[in-house]
Amino acid sequence: MPEPIIRIDNITKRYGALTVLAGLSMNVMPGEKLALIGPSGSGKTTILRILMTLETISGGHIEVDGAQLYHIPSKGALAPADERHLHRMREKIGMVFQHFNLFPHKCVVDNITLAPILTKRVPKAVAEKRAMELLDMVGLADKARSMPAQLSGGQKQRVAIARALALSPKIMLFDEVTSALDPELVEEVLTVMRKLGSETDMTMLLVTHEMGFAHDFADRVLFFDRGTIVEEGKPDEIFRNPKRERTQTFLRKIV
Ligand code: ADP
Repeated sequence: MPEPIIRIDNITKRYGALTVLAGLSMNVMPGEKLALIGPSGSGKTTILRILMTLETISGGHIEVDGAQLYHIPSKGALAPADERHLHRMREKIGMVFQHFNLFPHKCVVDNITLAPILTKRVPKAVAEKRAMELLDMVGLADKARSMPAQLSGGQKQRVAIARALALSPKIMLFDEVTSALDPELVEEVLTVMRKLGSETDMTMLLVTHEMGFAHDFADRVLFFDRGTIVEEGKPDEIFRNPKRERTQTFLRKIV
């Protein structure tokens, strides 16, 4: 039996007086495709941001690929050793955001090669070759020298996916990656995600409102409400036969 690649153990997250996650625990197996669904404000994005180390936790433990994600500093800033550790941990995880977050003054290929060149000291020619392969994978090889402003939202998001893949992460996090897109551009992004899911053994966590996609794509669906997992199961169980009333109410409203 393989070990989980992510172990989240009893974590809490507070913003001042607001408790966003209260003792949340969950495991993710290597290669698993997980969909996080639930009402707005239930803490789904916060979990992805914590895994990406964009947020700290107020308590609990997180292990990624066999190592503690971070140690909670007793006070003040992180020590340099912790910074180095964080850096190593960050390379294991890639994240794609709702609003693309491409560097506007850099062309597509430079957006993709920046992190490998700067953080992994990959030679420029090697990084560019890899970037071209990734652009080919997302169907944008002809846009390598375009600037982000010249691309549609769907194209920008596909570049953002290629950029996240450039560091060869073991885990990819997708935070409502189609929510900011015009409806006719949603499918091209979902197609790339399907391809990633079927052609790689990457672990993928997605926060999504695309219930049809979550149903077809995910191995397991977690329904969140108010910072806890109310119900989890295979897509058919959650979407066709939800057991908890809160899940039923949520799905009735949106499907
Ligand atoms: P979801 O992704 O399920 O919509 P989020 O994880 O984005 O939920 O947010 C959970 C809660 O945390 C919300 O009440 C939100 O307002 C709050 N929150 C998120 N980020 C911050 C922040 N930086 N400061 C204060 N509150 C925040």
